[in-house]
Amino acid sequence: MSKDKRPAPGKPASGGPKRKYEKKRIVAGICAIAVAVLFLFSCLYPVISRASAVDDAKAARDKAKQELDDIKNKKANVVKAYANFDSELTAVEDEVAALQSDIQNTEEEIERKAIELEEAKANTAAYEEEFKTRARIMYENGSTSYLEVLFGAESFSDLLERVEIIGSILDYDKDVLNKYAENQRIIKTAKEEQEKLLERQNSQHRSLELKQEQLELTLEKQQALIDELSGDEELAAKAYAAAEKEYEEEERKAQEEIRRKQLESQKSVLASNYTGGKFCWPAPSGVRITSPFGYRYHPISHTYSFHRGIDISTAYGTNVLAAEDGVVIIAQYNSSYGRYISINHGNGYTTLYAHNSQLLVSPGQTVKRGQVIAKAGSTGNSTGPHCHFEVSYNGNLQNPLNYLK
Ligand SMILES: [Zn+2]
Repeated sequence: MSKDKRPAPGKPASGGPKRKYEKKRIVAGICAIAVAVLFLFSCLYPVISRASAVDDAKAARDKAKQELDDIKNKKANVVKAYANFDSELTAVEDEVAALQSDIQNTEEEIERKAIELEEAKANTAAYEEEFKTRARIMYENGSTSYLEVLFGAESFSDLLERVEIIGSILDYDKDVLNKYAENQRIIKTAKEEQEKLLERQNSQHRSLELKQEQLELTLEKQQALIDELSGDEELAAKAYAAAEKEYEEEERKAQEEIRRKQLESQKSVLASNYTGGKFCWPAPSGVRITSPFGYRYHPISHTYSFHRGIDISTAYGTNVLAAEDGVVIIAQYNSSYGRYISINHGNGYTTLYAHNSQLLVSPGQTVKRGQVIAKAGSTGNSTGPHCHFEVSYNGNLQNPLNYLK
């Protein structure tokens, strides 16, 4: 500051001693303000940088969670597709098995028809043979020739009768032989039909087997994809767990920083109005406590955690009041508390008001009990407008209800 006593280089000193004195006073004032600002900033800097570190850690955690969720969704889709292909394969396998049994039945049927056909052929041949033999015997052994039979007739009526008998015998033989031939033809047609059926079944079997092979190949690929995604999932889960841990650590550091500031303020802040007694209810628009002090199930993280204060349900933008006379030590943003305020009430007591939409006081400002210090909101880690209210005594969290009732 000695530099300021001299005139600027190349410029003559202007004005008399009085003016010089005034100038000195202005410069001194500016310096004092600069020092005060610097001091304030140096005090707040750790809290500010901590908030940003928490924000960064939270963003990293959220990104890791998103990546993990993406992989899980992708895997779930592949697993679903796999299940569909698998049930399709099962259906095809059932079809193949059924077809194989049909093919076996057809083959057996063809076998039976072949035997039947052979038997029919043999029967025909035997009958033919028998007929031929009979005819030959009748021919060779003159007495039984047709003519002899006819000439052996004793009367005309006997002759007619004999003619008719011979005709009948001939017709009968012709009939039987025709029936044999017809029977053979029917069996042969049936056998040919079965052979055609077998051909169709075999071709169907081949295409089903092809389909089965393709499905097996698809399933193999899907399984490989699932394995790959499982590996990715494992890595992403580890990354997420690490990011979550880092975030918790940063949050813990941020809380520690707030605690440190609260404790430090005990030395510098002289307000010591609070000597016990009931605090002023900090959120008059709300009476309902939606979350008590202590261990609780967290609605966002779905884990059991320690709740540092009480949550008072409020309407958005309603007044948040100073619980007691004091000096504002923190008024800023952090990713958990959102826009929050901490007030030192003296005698080791501090309070904290979080998730506000708007802050109406600044660090260093003296406030009165019941003074409007903020407007309620849902900033930071919050699901709806409410006032998160904390009470600390010598840096240790207290159940706020003990000070409000
Ligand atoms: Zn809370």
